[in-house]
Amino acid sequence: MVLSRSFAQLARKSGQAKASILVAKEPLDSPPLEIHTLGHNELRKSAQRVSKVDESVREVARDMLRSMYTAKGIGLAAPQVGIQKKLLVIDIDHETPSTPPIVLINPEIITFGATVETYEEGCLSIPGVYLDVIRPSTVKISFRDEMGRPRKMNADGLLGRVIQHELDHLNGVLFVDRVTDKEGLTKELDDHGFNKDDVSPVMS
Ligand SMILES: [Zn+2]
Repeated sequence: MVLSRSFAQLARKSGQAKASILVAKEPLDSPPLEIHTLGHNELRKSAQRVSKVDESVREVARDMLRSMYTAKGIGLAAPQVGIQKKLLVIDIDHETPSTPPIVLINPEIITFGATVETYEEGCLSIPGVYLDVIRPSTVKISFRDEMGRPRKMNADGLLGRVIQHELDHLNGVLFVDRVTDKEGLTKELDDHGFNKDDVSPVMS
């Protein structure tokens, strides 16, 4: 059996689009971008929309991915590396080198699901700290992908959780701001050398 020419072209084209953002899922000795940690004011700013999705945006996304893989994270938001743009990279599958990461440009929440769940979160900007956070179980978002195409996505489970965590970063919100167990929070931050005064609790 042979593939028709048009089908083969189509397959090649979609392969190219996917490959455009893929970088080696390996830690680097010197990652391209420094990830700011709790207490740094870059983490508390509101990010601006990306006006045009071009090669320079894709290059930033690739550098963010390289830094994320080096730090063994599954999501990274541009403000964490001091870039105040609405740009997120996510990869919940580090084990498969060929699985493309997800790039979310100008992501917006369309709706949250009606149910909530508790899940332990961590953050590359607060290394070592892991605490329970309550969030909606599902989320529906709109965004542009790395090729500038408008997309919509429903996400639940780990992916839904990562998306909500990363979206918070675009508004200067950190997961520790949403932790309800204040005693546990103070202890965990203390144990890892962070200052509880750098937390800005959100009421939800
Ligand atoms: Zn984070």
